[in-house]
Amino acid sequence: MAAPLPNRDFVTTIRDDGSRPFLFPADTHGRFTTVRRIWSLLLIAFYLSLPWIQINGYPAVFLDIAQRRFHLFGLTLAAQDVWLMFFVITGLGFSLFFVTALFGRIWCGWACPHTVFLDHVYRRIERAIDGDAVSRRLLDEAPASGGKLFKRVFKHSLYILVSAVIAHLFLAYFVSLPEVWVMVSAAPTAHWSAFAFMAVFTGILYFNFGWFREQLCIVICPYGRLQSALIDDNSLVIGYDMKRGEPRGKVGTEGAGACVACNRCVQVCPTGIDIRQGLQLECVGCTACIDACDDVMTRLHRPRGLIRYD
Ligand code: SF4
Ligand code: SF4
Repeated sequence: MAAPLPNRDFVTTIRDDGSRPFLFPADTHGRFTTVRRIWSLLLIAFYLSLPWIQINGYPAVFLDIAQRRFHLFGLTLAAQDVWLMFFVITGLGFSLFFVTALFGRIWCGWACPHTVFLDHVYRRIERAIDGDAVSRRLLDEAPASGGKLFKRVFKHSLYILVSAVIAHLFLAYFVSLPEVWVMVSAAPTAHWSAFAFMAVFTGILYFNFGWFREQLCIVICPYGRLQSALIDDNSLVIGYDMKRGEPRGKVGTEGAGACVACNRCVQVCPTGIDIRQGLQLECVGCTACIDACDDVMTRLHRPRGLIRYD
């Protein structure tokens, strides 16, 4: 039997014994959810369309390792131009640090491919097949049955299919789409290394998006780990207005602050934390808790923004 969650007054996705409870974050609706959805679909289209777009006879982004030439939006770099990578990498690193100092984890919540594909592709497949958060949890706890097996097989087959499509398009960044098509048309033995790359990458994507999910941000991503060193009191973060919200209490409780302790902000959090405990390493800035709390406040005819960008 799994160990209980730690006896602390905040939630977490890792138990005391190191195991991890699988999360079933609830759906949100609201202005940030809508804008993020549109923005993410545009980003997905951008990520996946780059190998198809031709500029000066080459794909917009083509890292042609075989010929040691890199084609970036019409600019062609040869192997002897590799010294430019120093400026590219340091420039990107500086930009990331600079943006983080100003806007916190804006990258994680709004542009990181992990968040974008997880929230707007894989979770949507899961939602379509398994239903909302309550249905998903019930299905997970339900004993084995034909219906459960069918849903599991269907969902994971789609996960693998989507992962394989992404892996092939990712491979196209390095060998071009026509070459990927040639490889796909031939037997795996004709292109062992490319086939192995594609199979391993598909497996990694499937493992990550199908199961590992928020653990990548919490346990593995070095950028997430660096957050506390990159932000200061003036950085833009998603936070809970403690002055306005505390002490928590149900509607009508004398002396209670604005927070009605409905826990909606916790239920929607994809990393399983309670933003009311302050900024935490696990927060990826997804804005779900803002929309969830705004929805509660609107229903109670109270001003929005108890949880907000600040
Ligand atoms: S959603 Fe808002 S009102 Fe509900 S518990 Fe969270 S902060 Fe409090
Ligand atoms: S605390 Fe809010 S913004 Fe941070 S990950 Fe959870 S739901 Fe997203």
